[in-house]
Amino acid sequence: MSLLSIQDLQVEFSGFKALKGVNLGIGDRELVTIIGPNGAGKSTLLDAIVGKSPVSKGKITYQERDITNYKPHEIARMGIGRKFQNPNIYNDLTVFENLLLALKGSHGIFAAITSKLTRLKRHKITSVLEQIGLIEYAGTKAASLSHGQKQWVEIGMVLAQDPSVVLLDEPTAGMTPEETHATGEIIQAMSEFHSVVVIEHDMEFVKQIAQRIVVLHQGQNLAEGTVEQVQNHPKVMEVYLGRERIAA
Ligand code: ADP
Ligand code: MG
Repeated sequence: MSLLSIQDLQVEFSGFKALKGVNLGIGDRELVTIIGPNGAGKSTLLDAIVGKSPVSKGKITYQERDITNYKPHEIARMGIGRKFQNPNIYNDLTVFENLLLALKGSHGIFAAITSKLTRLKRHKITSVLEQIGLIEYAGTKAASLSHGQKQWVEIGMVLAQDPSVVLLDEPTAGMTPEETHATGEIIQAMSEFHSVVVIEHDMEFVKQIAQRIVVLHQGQNLAEGTVEQVQNHPKVMEVYLGRERIAA
């Protein structure tokens, strides 16, 4: 039984079908990687799951509950966390303060920073800092972090909300190879405690983290399997035409 299940999902933008019937099941603490050419509908799929794109047909089930077209804040509260492509952190605050703001039940910057820091909150933030490898940067202003470190803070902000499912849209975009590799390790460690869906196009990174890969193309499922199975899949090879295999 899947924790999160997507059935025959369709999303339309003024008549244009960005998703034409996508199916996907994600098990408890499973790591699923989604790949596919630009415009395949990968980000739209995550948008639909978190209630940001209207579903015109099909169904999203989470913990056996139909959550199709629920509002974004309802979905977040139910335990589905999403990291977007662009960093969205407060540069003038420290890493610790950014995470404090993201904790469940925080109500705005002022309240979060001035209210009493309970031992529970401190413990939670420390554990997130360990997960994202930034324990030594707790007191550092976010502005002085590298691009990669900022992305990790964003992942931390999602983790601070105790989600069951974490959705990551191109988490390594713009990172150095070292940062990309470290991100892979963060994601693998995360998947011990969370179900994780990662959209990615860097095949080296996909090989590092991937267990089950789902390939989308033109708003539909194209193929599914291990790295090896997907790379040798005739339809996948056809779509990534011009290359022998995807980034072989
Ligand atoms: P991917 O993330 O796989 O590159 P997207 O999900 O961003 O693809 O986009 C899938 C298709 O839907 C593209 O053709 C894109 O132009 C279109 N699309 C995405 N969002 C919108 C929107 N808000 N309005 C209209 N068209 C959109
Ligand atoms: Mg995208």
